[in-house]
Amino acid sequence: MNWLTNFVLPKIRAVKETVAKKEVPENLWTKCGNCGQMLFSRDLEANLHVCNTCGFHLRLAPAQRFAALFDDGKYATIELPKPVSDPLRFRDVKRYGDRLKEAHAKNGAGTDAVIVAHGAIGGLPAVMACFDFSFMGGSMGVAVGEALLAAARLAVLQEAALIVVPASGGARMQEGILSLMQMPRTTLAVEMVKDVGLPYIVLLTHPTTGGVSASFAMLGDITLAEPGAVIGFAGARVIEETIREKLPEGFQRSEYLLEHGMVDMVVPRKELKETLARIVRLLMSPAPGIAQAKQA
Ligand SMILES: [Zn+2]
Repeated sequence: MNWLTNFVLPKIRAVKETVAKKEVPENLWTKCGNCGQMLFSRDLEANLHVCNTCGFHLRLAPAQRFAALFDDGKYATIELPKPVSDPLRFRDVKRYGDRLKEAHAKNGAGTDAVIVAHGAIGGLPAVMACFDFSFMGGSMGVAVGEALLAAARLAVLQEAALIVVPASGGARMQEGILSLMQMPRTTLAVEMVKDVGLPYIVLLTHPTTGGVSASFAMLGDITLAEPGAVIGFAGARVIEETIREKLPEGFQRSEYLLEHGMVDMVVPRKELKETLARIVRLLMSPAPGIAQAKQA
């Protein structure tokens, strides 16, 4: 028609399209959940997802956790049993089946809230079961119980240390009584490892609450916790309302639990690898007397 519509408009459109096409990573910046500082994702990754302004420990996905803790970042995940999904055909606002589908679309088909990997820690064999809080709040249903049983069996088979890293809101309500049954099941899984004299180490991360804290998470031979993690059974507000008293400062935080003898060590994420390796070596190396007796 004229110079404007024939020449200028197409040019503007073309520029607009190239700008839209240029891949701008959405998650270039992450906001610290504690101090609100905007953190550059690459720096955050290098700092193991700890805020470099206030030291807040942000959430770490299982793959990142494994890479950070296994020797040389090398590990192999194992395939886990797949129990019947939605055994009660449960429905609240949404169908549980649909919730699962959404979670699978986000986290990968066939996954659940626990990933199990094996490798070496401190040069010794180790099996690690790590919770993924982004999968339905790390809630414990039958699949999680199966995962922990599989991890325990593998630890026994490989004569490896078992390390569990919970991050969970507790039992998965959509599985009703079946989710509660995972408390004794996971306790038995842990007992299997302890019975053969292998170490069972728990690393409590934010948050570890409900049925998870009331079962395997509190049964470690050694219990470590990341700084500032909320660890408890019922939420602080519920307790406050029940006992009608103000709770002390820092209640249900790692440091509070350490002070009250519920946790052995509070370890910053940067020191975890070394600390864990030291503990595994201490617990798995035979005492000098036994080693000599074996050689004789
Ligand atoms: Zn911060």
